[in-house]
Parts: sequence; C-alpha cells; structure tokens
Amino acid sequence: MAEPSIFTRILQGDIPGEIVAETERVFAIKDISPQAPLHLLVIPKTQEYRDVAALAAGDPSLLAEMITLANDLAAEHADGDFRVLFNTGAGAGQTVFHVHAHVLAGGLGEKSLVGG
Ligand code: 5GP
Repeated sequence: MAEPSIFTRILQGDIPGEIVAETERVFAIKDISPQAPLHLLVIPKTQEYRDVAALAAGDPSLLAEMITLANDLAAEHADGDFRVLFNTGAGAGQTVFHVHAHVLAGGLGEKSLVGG
C-alpha cells in the first residue's frame, strides 16, 4: 500500500481541511494557499492516479466527474466562470502526486493566462 497522500489524509479526517463538496468518487477542498478569490482543489477519492495524464488514460469518466464538480462549485461559490489547471510533473510545479484540479474563480478578470 502506498503512503496516504496529504489529500487522502484530509479526506480521512487525519489532518484538518475544509471539504466543501463530496460525491461518491470525488471531493473538493479549499487550497491552503489560495491564488484567486476562490481556489478549490477537486480530487478523486482514489489516489491511484498520480497526474491528469494517468487519469485520462486510466479512467476518463472520473476526469469528467472532476470537471462537472468544478463547474458546479464555480456556479455555487462564484459567478460560474472558472479556470482549471493541472500541474503535471515536478518541472511544472506539481508537488502532490495524487491528481487534483486547481479550480480558480471569482474576479479573475477577462484576460486569459494564455492567448486572448
Ligand atoms: P500542486 O503544486 O501539486 O499542483 O498543488 C498542490 C496544492 O495543494 C498547492 O496549491 C497547495 O497549496 C495545496 N496544499 C498543500 N498542502 C495542503 C494542505 O494541507 N491543505 C490544503 N487545503 N491544501 C494544501
């Protein structure tokens, strides 16, 4: 058995963390270091997938569930518009190797990070 990730430990109640939503297979917490007015992490309950590429290959419907929950939470906690980000690999800033979507919303402005 792999060591429980920090997110698994939050899900299990071993360390504090505000769970803002939970479905059968996915949960969401507030990021401890928010980078936007609303900064949530949407996380599969399984820690089997280390990053979004592994998840897309292994269980695309679970990835779709994460995006659906992100959409619902952006509507519930902000104006419905949101940015979703998956850091993938240490070189891209990933520090927790239990796949998670950063969901940023609320007063982002109209300018995109890329393009636009
Ligand atoms: P990564 O760098 O892997 O893409 O994202 C990991 C995220 O987890 C970071 O944004 C970081 O702030 C967040 N994080 C790390 N430890 C904790 C924690 O104990 N509680 C919460 N709520 N977020 C955490």
